[in-house]
Amino acid sequence: LELDRIVMEFDIGSFGRKKKVRAVDNVSLSIDKGLIYGLVGESGSGKSTLGRVTLRLYKPVSGRVLFDGQDITGLPESKLRPLRRRMQLIPQDPYGAVNPVQTIGEALSEPLIVHYGLETREAMEQVKAMLENVGLTPAEDFISRRPFNLSGGQLQRAVIARAMLLKPEYIVADEPTSNLDASIRASIVKLLLDFKEKYNQSLLFITHDIVLLSLIADRIGVMYLAQLVEEGPSDEVIKNPLHPYTRALLSAIPLVSQELGFEKIILKGEIGDPANPPTGCRLHPRCPYASQKCAKEEPPFIELAAGRKVKCWLYASG
Ligand code: SF4
Ligand code: MG
Repeated sequence: LELDRIVMEFDIGSFGRKKKVRAVDNVSLSIDKGLIYGLVGESGSGKSTLGRVTLRLYKPVSGRVLFDGQDITGLPESKLRPLRRRMQLIPQDPYGAVNPVQTIGEALSEPLIVHYGLETREAMEQVKAMLENVGLTPAEDFISRRPFNLSGGQLQRAVIARAMLLKPEYIVADEPTSNLDASIRASIVKLLLDFKEKYNQSLLFITHDIVLLSLIADRIGVMYLAQLVEEGPSDEVIKNPLHPYTRALLSAIPLVSQELGFEKIILKGEIGDPANPPTGCRLHPRCPYASQKCAKEEPPFIELAAGRKVKCWLYASG
């Protein structure tokens, strides 16, 4: 999956007070086959929007989206349809992801009937096997239940089952555990990782939990106010974070910050308004290292080594 200089904007407001918000600003990245790309950042940094652009659930204002070598940026829905089953979204809120009046059996068999043209009975057999697979047993019991008769964790397993039934090659997991009890989060993550291994899937894992990414991701990208500000192999980003924002994220974690090989950073104030981002470097009003240049000029996204990038004037030559 490849993104090339993606820009995504939304109109907000109404009655002549319309305003454009740039939710994703010039982001390029690629996710190799069979790898996990972890995208981290605060709420409102554009992670979910970016994830949906990769699935072409949104059409970007500019830039290109490539899936398996094919440019899918401008494809109409009719041409996207055959690709849809190959790329699946696991959303944050499982209750919002299912039709509340359908049974689990209906909800999970429908995509198989639509995408693979299976008979209902045949589809239901696959659904039962997959429900067992994700730990919703006995499956017989679950197929006749409706979403609100399942716990959040059970329903998220059902949503994962629905996606995996289509044997997708690319998954966007958008904070798949953040609405769930802490006690079951690890088991849901493990379930996703098991499928990923089994089917050699590529995964975009979106979260605000950089510690989780340190455990599961091959690469990490850090977003701040619609921009990618740091990127690299997971262990390098964690052990040697370069961008002050990444350092601040790690400084905020008690166990991690005791072992940091750099000065702890506390950012001032709150994340800015995406509709009205700061000039220059977007972090400058909060950054302890900000210089006058930072307030005026946007830093380039500098490639320090192959695949290791940072968007900060501290690393620009000279
Ligand atoms: Fe801080 Fe300047 Fe680097 Fe931005 S460019 S993160 S303000 S030092
Ligand atoms: Mg989000």
